Amino acid sequence: MSSSKRDPYEVLGVQRNANQDEIKKAYRKLARVNHPDANPGDEGAEKRFKEVSESYSVLSDPDQRAAYDRLGWGGLGHTAGGTGGDPFGGAGVGDIFGSIFSDLFGGGRSSRTHRPVRGRDLRITLPITFEEAAAGIEKEIEIKKNITCNVCNGSGAAAGTAPRRCSTCGGSGRERVQQRTPFGMMVNETTCRQCRGAGVIIDSPCNQCRGSGMVKRPRKVKVSIPAGIDGGYTLRVSGEGEPGPRGAPPGDLLVNITLKEHKYFQREDNELILEKKINIAQAVLGDTIFVPTLVKGQKAKVGIKAGTQNGAIYRLKGKGFPNLQGFGKGDMHIIMRVVTPTKLSSREKEMFTEMKELWKNKKGKKKSKSS
Ligand SMILES: [Zn+2]
Ligand SMILES: [Zn+2]
Repeated sequence: MSSSKRDPYEVLGVQRNANQDEIKKAYRKLARVNHPDANPGDEGAEKRFKEVSESYSVLSDPDQRAAYDRLGWGGLGHTAGGTGGDPFGGAGVGDIFGSIFSDLFGGGRSSRTHRPVRGRDLRITLPITFEEAAAGIEKEIEIKKNITCNVCNGSGAAAGTAPRRCSTCGGSGRERVQQRTPFGMMVNETTCRQCRGAGVIIDSPCNQCRGSGMVKRPRKVKVSIPAGIDGGYTLRVSGEGEPGPRGAPPGDLLVNITLKEHKYFQREDNELILEKKINIAQAVLGDTIFVPTLVKGQKAKVGIKAGTQNGAIYRLKGKGFPNLQGFGKGDMHIIMRVVTPTKLSSREKEMFTEMKELWKNKKGKKKSKSS
């Protein structure tokens, strides 16, 4: 990337020893001519505009300019934690657009707050199953989101027209209102009523997007859900939010994870809770049973000990949820529920009656022994 980039002095058409005023003047002229709003649909202009902006962002910053003078574009690669492929070589794109706006139109919104201009974040809720949470999964989901209108390229203006600067606020989007108060005249700044803060007015809006510059379209997004995730977590898919205004970077997609109810299981942190019904004979005599696990179709063997009480808890180590940080696993806790039978066959009734008599005598014997 760095080798094909043009020299910023050459882009701005200034001498290598140009001072800040000369650089700023050259930049303003070129930015105005090539601004996307003045050239709707012209990709060449957009490219030149970005090149001009980038060159200016380097030459207007004494540190970056010095680094460029020493090492060329390669000297700027590590300046500001930019991600790979960032066309602005590490400097925040939003900041650059912010400064362009304030430079072009005199005090834009972004320069006031110093917040980088960026698209809005989108937020969705994604319910997942216990099994998906345990194993981790990549899900493709469809969201409806605004994308830059392809007819007007986001300018909002109909073909052959361009937005014009708002004459009321001069493009700043802010309006000064004088008010007489007991303390004298006060000047209040509010959002411009003419352009509603946009700074530009669109006389003939684009047919497709009605002037907003954006259209809603369904879009498939892949979300990687890490193993061990629980309901209440929010995953961030960067760059999948709404597009930024006038070419600024998009916002993020925030995915709120919720856990669907499970037919058998409950969850406490990474521990898995299962209530298992057993009959009275299993409780008395013991048995081998199989219980469901978080792996679909896979069962785990549990040996019920003779004399198991109602409410006894058996533990299967490592059969719970994996730790989200990647080490260790929770356990499965099986709460034994001994079910008292209510409908008995005549044979069963006979046997329980026999047992009842037996236990009565046993009790009577014990009593006579102790007394
Ligand atoms: Zn449009
Ligand atoms: Zn205005």
